[in-house]
Amino acid sequence: MAATPINARVCVLTANARGAVAVLRIWGLDALAVADAVFRPARGDRLARSGLEVPRFGRAGAGIGDEVVAVVVGPVRAGGVPEVELHCHGGTAAVVLVVEALADAGASVRRSQSWNRHAAGRALSAQARADLARAPTVRTAEVLLEQAGGALAREVAAISVGLGDDERERRIEGLLARAPIGRRLVSGWSVVLAGRPNVGKSRLLNALAGYERAIVDPTPGTTRDVVTVLTALDGWPVEIADTAGVRAADDPLEAAGVALARARQAGADLIVLVLDRSEPLSTDDYALIAALPDALVVANKGDLPTAWRVDPMDVLTISAESGDGLDRLASAVARRLVPEPPGPGVGVPFRAAHERRLRRALEQVRSGRPVTALSWFVNG
Ligand code: GDP
Repeated sequence: MAATPINARVCVLTANARGAVAVLRIWGLDALAVADAVFRPARGDRLARSGLEVPRFGRAGAGIGDEVVAVVVGPVRAGGVPEVELHCHGGTAAVVLVVEALADAGASVRRSQSWNRHAAGRALSAQARADLARAPTVRTAEVLLEQAGGALAREVAAISVGLGDDERERRIEGLLARAPIGRRLVSGWSVVLAGRPNVGKSRLLNALAGYERAIVDPTPGTTRDVVTVLTALDGWPVEIADTAGVRAADDPLEAAGVALARARQAGADLIVLVLDRSEPLSTDDYALIAALPDALVVANKGDLPTAWRVDPMDVLTISAESGDGLDRLASAVARRLVPEPPGPGVGVPFRAAHERRLRRALEQVRSGRPVTALSWFVNG
């Protein structure tokens, strides 16, 4: 009968140079057993009976061995296995002595990148699972599930080791390009409807939400509060806000200003500018078009006789009343919010902290410095 292989790995976490202290990490199902096989406590019981995070003094290694401090470290994730950190003297000979003892006890010796991959996977996976529980739609849950399965961890680990600077830069940029998606997986995207009074913003809000929520009133500029609804467009969670209360028929620039202010306040990802196709475009409309160049422009009331042709403007015609064109509008909004939906296995930085670290890593690569920012993914 073949013996069950020992499941324990060890690596030296500290730099491969003469430091005062070297830190060794032991992980795997048999980490505690292997550590106990080499650790001779100055007093007290073996490590398997130690409390978590309690430093233990003792010796390890052949002969008299080296003086070491051993710490049992808790698993990052519930249900995980405790690991052991051994701190020994930093001289090469002392490290070799302890590593050899661990190898004799059955641990396989790994490079520190191997630990990085392992730890990054655990920390990110735990975060992704936490966010997964709060994902508002199936589509956002799918993206987070990929991250829980290691998609981001694999890409970060690949960047951390053995790549040329150009390739590293390219890959970090690739991850950062997906950060705007990751940022919104739990919170959802924010869209603000803008347009002069009576073009049908409230009606459109209701139509997109699928239920009556805003007050639709035929009198222009009826006093209303800002109304928002949460809905899903092509599977992405979107909060749509009407710039209700913007009564600026005589001052479209002010209306645009209010729309922008509202958009910023809501952290809006997109402004949809609503025009009325049944009436000739007014100077107010033109002023709004000019003031909101990034807006997605829609022509509402397409069910009524049309007062203007859509070209040369790139305008989507809809009818909030009949529902015509709403599918195309929903898709157009989704495409503007998520131009490239991440496929299976694609890493997406899904927390603000991931994005910050990646930006720092990018600066480090570009200035030729060592890339230390990514170690955060390991240390949590
Ligand atoms: P808002 O001031 O931009 O929010 O405009 P409302 O949503 O209050 O709509 C103003 C008026 O236009 C209401 O009488 C709506 O019923 C009407 N309306 C809105 N959308 C449409 C549409 O697509 N077709 C038609 N025929 N009427 C619409």
